[in-house]
Amino acid sequence: MYDTFKSHLSSELAAIESAGLYKNERIIVSPQGAAIRVSDGKEVLNFCANNYLGLSNHPQLRAAAARALETHGYGMSSVRFICGTQDLHKELEAEISRFFGTDDAILYAACFDANGGVFEPLLSEQDAIISDALNHASIIDGVRLCKAQRYRYANADMAELEKQLQAAQEQRFRLIVTDGVFSMDGNVAPLDKIYELAVKYDAMVMVDESHSAGVVGNTGRGVTELYNLKGKIEIITGTLGKAFGGAIGGFTTGKKEIIAMLRQRSRPYLFSNSIPPMVAAAGIQMFRMIDETNELQDRLHENTAYFVAKMKEIGFDIKPTESAICAVMLYDAKLAQEVAAAMLDEGIYVIGFYYPVVPKGQARIRVQLSAAHTRPQLDQCLAAFARVGKAKGILN
Ligand SMILES: *Cc1c(COP(=O)(O)O)cnc(C)c1O
Repeated sequence: MYDTFKSHLSSELAAIESAGLYKNERIIVSPQGAAIRVSDGKEVLNFCANNYLGLSNHPQLRAAAARALETHGYGMSSVRFICGTQDLHKELEAEISRFFGTDDAILYAACFDANGGVFEPLLSEQDAIISDALNHASIIDGVRLCKAQRYRYANADMAELEKQLQAAQEQRFRLIVTDGVFSMDGNVAPLDKIYELAVKYDAMVMVDESHSAGVVGNTGRGVTELYNLKGKIEIITGTLGKAFGGAIGGFTTGKKEIIAMLRQRSRPYLFSNSIPPMVAAAGIQMFRMIDETNELQDRLHENTAYFVAKMKEIGFDIKPTESAICAVMLYDAKLAQEVAAAMLDEGIYVIGFYYPVVPKGQARIRVQLSAAHTRPQLDQCLAAFARVGKAKGILN
């Protein structure tokens, strides 16, 4: 059997490659940070990590992880409800719900699991899930695992959302689901309007704050802070793998009874391992740190505002953004690849995105800002963009 299967895979892989869609991994030999070293020994400035608060290699988080390694050991060898819950896991859940102003929180190995395990235990055939068309893959997969009726609306299109809510009025319960920040454009979900429609059409709301937590809102509480909706949204999911230290781990936080039901029925929680003690301990330390001072959130906001304003001044076409994602629009896929390669030659690591990741004719470079970027590093990136932009005839 394997001979024929192998030739099937080989031809599929060749097709991926010839379509220019083959993903190669760049090997980093230093810790994650604003400046990284890649395997050929070259140092580059990193503008494509989700390291928004610059915490991926923060000394206080490293120290908290090292302490927990001594006091609580390396691994749990158990799911939570058998013998995989330490004091650290409960403390981290308490920190998460305190941070978001919610009743309770439940940890997962990743936000992919949080989203994969949130719908099926809560909703059934009689219910409706109304989902933004640009929601993250893990939300799409989670919805597929649930028997609820599915409705979809175009990205952030409130007229379409309203129509779908009207269409779903027969169902028992309605849940609107949206990403907080959409990762390709960096736009924020209009949660104020979504909430209004939810009230009008008797629905609940779920927001995935993976790209917005730590980033959006004055203190980084995410889109619920931006729109003054703290405590009003039924379900928030998020990751510890982006702004919050970047290691691993996800969570669902929100209404008490929802979290209680997830602890009983959510399959990735019941049938997958607990996060390691050192990750839990560093997470606790991280929430205390960003609660104590708003320095990192402020620096991220300053860096983003500075970078976006300068890029516009230089003459680039920048998508409106309310996050730490800056989409530099080039429209042409080949050009996006060439610009990313030229930027790397300039010592700046950025990634080009093109179809099918973004719509045809919408190719771009996605720049992600971090609190870890210094002003000289931002200026170095801006100067490189200016040079590459001129060399490629994008700027005149
Ligand atoms: C990154 C991301 C996830 C996945 O988070 P992990 O913890 O890495 O699994 C889920 N949802 C959204 C919106 C994301 O951006």
